[in-house]
Amino acid sequence: MRQRIRKSILIFSLLLFPITFMLLSPFVIVVSAANGVFNGSAMIFGLLLFFSMVGSRLFCGWLCPGGALQENIAVVNDRHWNSKKKNISKYITWTIWFSFIVFLWLQHPRLKGDFLYFIEFNFQYFIIYAIVMVIIYLFTLVTGRRGMCHSLCWMAPFMVIGEKLADFLHIPRFRLAAKPESCISCGKCTKNCPMGLDVETMVKAGVMESSECINCLECVDGCPKKAIGFGVFQKQ
Ligand code: SF4
Ligand code: SF4
Repeated sequence: MRQRIRKSILIFSLLLFPITFMLLSPFVIVVSAANGVFNGSAMIFGLLLFFSMVGSRLFCGWLCPGGALQENIAVVNDRHWNSKKKNISKYITWTIWFSFIVFLWLQHPRLKGDFLYFIEFNFQYFIIYAIVMVIIYLFTLVTGRRGMCHSLCWMAPFMVIGEKLADFLHIPRFRLAAKPESCISCGKCTKNCPMGLDVETMVKAGVMESSECINCLECVDGCPKKAIGFGVFQKQ
C-alpha cells in the first residue's frame, strides 16, 4: 500500500513537471546568478539541503519528477547502475557548476530575490522541457536503474551535504535500520531497490548507511521477515 502511494505521488509530480521543471533547473540558476538574482531554484536547492538534515533523501524517493520518470524506464532497462566510480561524476560536475554560481553571486554586492525569475510559459519553454525529458529518458534507457540520480543529478549533492552536516552536528535524521538476525537471504530487497543498491549485503553487515539511498522504503516494504526498519535517529 505504501509503495502504491509513493508511486502515485511520483506520477503526480511527473505530471506537474511541465510547470515545475524550471524551478529545479541547473541552468536558470546560472542565468539568474549572472544577473544578480537569487532565483526560485536557488531557494529550492537551499531548502532541500536544510530538509535533508532531518528528512535525508526522502525528496528523491517520494517527490522528484526526474526520479519518477527514471523509475518508469526501469521497466525497459532494469540494469543496476551503481558504483563508486559512476557516482563520483555527479560530485565533480556539481562542484564545478556550484563554484561557478557562487563566483557569479560574489560579483554582485546585493542579490535580488525573485522566485520566478526567467520563467515564461511560452513555446520555447515547452521545447526546452521536451529536450530535457528526452535527455533524461535516453540517459536512463542506456544506463539503467536511476542512472541519472547516480551520475548526473545536480540536486543530490545538496541533500548528501545536508545528511553529512546533520551527522556532523549529531542531528537525528531519517534512516534505515537492519536486523541482520532476521534476514533469510531471499534477495528481495536488492531486487526491489530502485537505486540498485546491494541491500541484502548492507542488512547482513548491519550497516544501512548509503549516500545513494533515496529512502523510498521499497526494501522495507518488500522484506518478508521485516528485517529492515526505519525511523528518525542519530548515527550510531
Ligand atoms: S528482503 Fe529481507 S529477508 Fe530478504 S534478503 Fe532482504 S533483508 Fe534479508
Ligand atoms: S536501500 Fe531501500 S530505501 Fe534505500 S533506495 Fe534502496 S530500496 Fe530504497
